[in-house]
Amino acid sequence: MNLILLGPPGAGKGTQAKAISDRCNVPHISTGDMFREIIKTGGDLAKQLKSYMDKGELVPDKLVLEVVEQVLTAGKGKQGFLLDGFPRTMPQADGLGKALSKSGRKIDGVFCFSVPDETVVERLSGRRTCRGCGVNFHVKYMPPKKDGVCDKCGKELYQRDDDKEATIRNRLAVYHSQTADLIEYYRKKGVLIEIEADKAPEKVAAEVDSRLDALMKG
Ligand code: ADP
Ligand code: AMP
Repeated sequence: MNLILLGPPGAGKGTQAKAISDRCNVPHISTGDMFREIIKTGGDLAKQLKSYMDKGELVPDKLVLEVVEQVLTAGKGKQGFLLDGFPRTMPQADGLGKALSKSGRKIDGVFCFSVPDETVVERLSGRRTCRGCGVNFHVKYMPPKKDGVCDKCGKELYQRDDDKEATIRNRLAVYHSQTADLIEYYRKKGVLIEIEADKAPEKVAAEVDSRLDALMKG
């Protein structure tokens, strides 16, 4: 299976990703997570990535495509994938299509999560991320058992630099101007699966699950 999670930042893509990747037995590949890992190691590329991400701007297509193509053709995505946060622009979608067709592969499904902008602001300003395993919590909607501590690995929870209100608003504007067109692009290809994501996590999970049933039955 070659799957994509599409939707604004904060729509709940990462929250639903593990269940989908477990069920379809494909790796969850988040470009945002990959970039945050690169930033931890330091160096020139790290500095460049951080400068875009801290402002809520997109990393340039050329740089993103170089990193992703390697992962999809020679890395952990070569047998199938669940992409999260990629593609985010038309040139990225185009680059992905070309890279896949070289090896006779195609996209099987694009889960598009929709939520209103104000929900995004509320979700992202309350998001807390684990420094150890990267799992996300929410101070109100998905609180950890112990304040500031990850339920899964016990490491510290932190607030991402780009999860501050001004940056969140910029990321939303970037989503509407540069990414939202991909919804039509994938609808025309007949692979779009629309998910109403403005409801409780279990309800979103149930909707995703039933849409996956249909997709797997072909
Ligand atoms: P994305 O990966 O799309 O950027 P996340 O999965 O990280 O979004 O979710 C953003 C924030 O919203 C997190 O703090 C998460 O705990 C919370 N969240 C995710 N899904 C829901 C939901 N259905 N209802 C309420 N909060 C949610
Ligand atoms: P995310 O973790 O998906 O919220 O992404 C965090 C940030 O990483 C974004 O605001 C961008 O700066 C950068 N980023 C992640 N994926 C991409 C992508 N496909 N194209 C451009 N920038 C990206």
